[in-house]
Amino acid sequence: MKALVKAEPRPGLWLQDRPVPEIGPDDVLIRIRKTGICGTDIHIYAWDDWAQKNVPVPMVIGHEYAGEIAETGRNVRHLEPGQRVSGEGHVIGMKSRAARGGKFHLDPETRGIGVQIPGAFAEYLSLPAFNVVPLPDSVDDELGAILDPLGNAVHTALSFDLVGEDVLITGAGPIGIMSAAVARHVGARHVVITDVNPDRLALAGAVADVRPVNVAAEDLAEVKQRLGMKEGFDVGLEMSGAPSAFDQMVDHLVMGGRIALLGIPARPAPVDWTRIVFKMLTIKGIYGREMFETWHKMLAMLESGLDIRGVITHRLPVADFARGFEIMQGGTSGKIVLDWTG
Ligand code: NAD
Ligand code: ZN
Repeated sequence: MKALVKAEPRPGLWLQDRPVPEIGPDDVLIRIRKTGICGTDIHIYAWDDWAQKNVPVPMVIGHEYAGEIAETGRNVRHLEPGQRVSGEGHVIGMKSRAARGGKFHLDPETRGIGVQIPGAFAEYLSLPAFNVVPLPDSVDDELGAILDPLGNAVHTALSFDLVGEDVLITGAGPIGIMSAAVARHVGARHVVITDVNPDRLALAGAVADVRPVNVAAEDLAEVKQRLGMKEGFDVGLEMSGAPSAFDQMVDHLVMGGRIALLGIPARPAPVDWTRIVFKMLTIKGIYGREMFETWHKMLAMLESGLDIRGVITHRLPVADFARGFEIMQGGTSGKIVLDWTG
């Protein structure tokens, strides 16, 4: 089968011929149709410090995908060949207290497909049946291929009650933009999204009913005033990884405000804890999706009118993967979806 492989410990990716993965009795084999390129894949492509420490070579990469079940292991009863599916890319253990207590997303033994174990940028993926999520007819393959990052957005946005709240989102990357659409869908009042990249802000405004703010040119205090907000934002969703964006969020939140942190700073950054203490802020770190409640909620919201399709800005055949990675590295695109069916 064709697969995109981190074949050598240096920058780049290689489209290679690889054996179709074997499946165990509790696994399914998925024929991949569409995949999404993630920031994580860019780190692996560029072979930065993080990738060098975390990715064994050779590795089939990729974790955002949709496809069709080709084969099921002999113990698998609830799924069958031909079903359209996506799935959770975090493969968990079953030994920890968290996993045994049903808090699957908190299992410390989690391994990621396309990072530590073979991934989805291939014609076939072997996945534990436990991780498979069937797709409703209304969620087509390209949407199915971006459920992993939509799940990040949904997990973050639903961390706190947003109904009637004023929400500040820092970072208008694909995940920030999708979280803005979710905040709007669930009934937030004012939704403001910040970035320093005008292309990203324009995309945010086109995809979601939000107020884009370029913090390199505009003052958030004035924006609040114009919106008639007397104090500050009730909830902050940090989606940039920029330490200055986090500081700004702390500045503009109300006393007792709540922050969900998804963005990953490139390196350790100092935090002014005194302000967090005196403002009595609640801060929650977010990793991945909550298995499988996030999957349920996001599919249900897509079925009830959540529209995030506009975040997909490029669709390419897998043969053009190098162009897709180049466009991603340019930093102005939304999601890029690769087609494996050609
Ligand atoms: P992205 O890099 O495409 O988007 C980040 C955006 O933040 C960019 O548009 C950038 O211009 C903007 N930005 C930079 N400085 C800013 C500032 N001072 N104020 C406001 N915005 C600023 O990333 P993405 O794919 O949308 O992911 C969002 C973040 O979440 C990234 O940090 C990513 O590493 C992280 N992430 C975390 C998880 C997790 O499980 N915790 C999963 C996926 C991604
Ligand atoms: Zn991803």
